[in-house]
Amino acid sequence: MKKGKKLYEGKAKIIYETQDKDLVIQHFKDDATAFNNLKKSSVEGKGVLNNRISEHILTNLSQCGIKTHLIKRLNMREQLIKKAEIFPIEFIVRNIATGSLTKRLGIPEGTVLENPLLEYCYKKDELNDPVISKEHIYNFGWATENEINVIDKMTLRINDLLVGLFRGVGIKLIDFKIEYGKVWNKETEQKEIVLADEISPDTCRLWDSKTEKKLDKDRFRKDLGNIIQGYQEVARRLGIMPEETNISEVNFGKTTSIKFKKK
Ligand code: 5GP
Repeated sequence: MKKGKKLYEGKAKIIYETQDKDLVIQHFKDDATAFNNLKKSSVEGKGVLNNRISEHILTNLSQCGIKTHLIKRLNMREQLIKKAEIFPIEFIVRNIATGSLTKRLGIPEGTVLENPLLEYCYKKDELNDPVISKEHIYNFGWATENEINVIDKMTLRINDLLVGLFRGVGIKLIDFKIEYGKVWNKETEQKEIVLADEISPDTCRLWDSKTEKKLDKDRFRKDLGNIIQGYQEVARRLGIMPEETNISEVNFGKTTSIKFKKK
């Protein structure tokens, strides 16, 4: 698939057009940003890891019946995806209280939530992506009641599947952000809602089940260091890139001479 004009450049990804008007290429950059662009850096290899981790997760979700925008991964940094009309809403799911929830409502850090908590944020950098209610969504026409009912169900199902996927590899899914879009389905001749964007350590909080060590973008946000090692650990546990991430130094020990028996 030939890459055409750049259509959009975000903080972590670039979208390019293709010869097919319904398909675009999603390119994962190494750029890392936090606090609405106040903190910026480049983390070498992050784009490659997010591309592969997101491909792995979306493929797994799709095998469980979740419709996604992903067609296929093209190379180490790019995916071919369906061109979607993205809802201007970030859908956040929380299983354990941390981050902005603890700050906003004073809920103690680490509180296990009785039920997964769904929050909606208006995607608007200038306003710091504020939390909104369904009433805002309907009132301002950002999505219809029907669409939100479909998305809520999909989101809770995705949370169930992801909690299981990560639990199986010793990782707790604390919370995550997802986005949805609408695409034209040629067979049904109707628009359908698909999971869009990415699911990666950039968009999830992932803690090691035993040690609660952070394996996600909070390593960057909170200056914890070893950012790429956290992402590599997620990739390695999910069974992606074993050859790159399993390389460890080989200790050859002391050299000893080999004695040959005289015949
Ligand atoms: P919080 O609201 O606590 O800052 O974030 C909740 C979850 O959503 C975290 O997993 C965080 O990574 C994700 N999240 C929220 N907003 C954004 C965003 O604008 N970009 C990215 N990459 N993730 C976000």
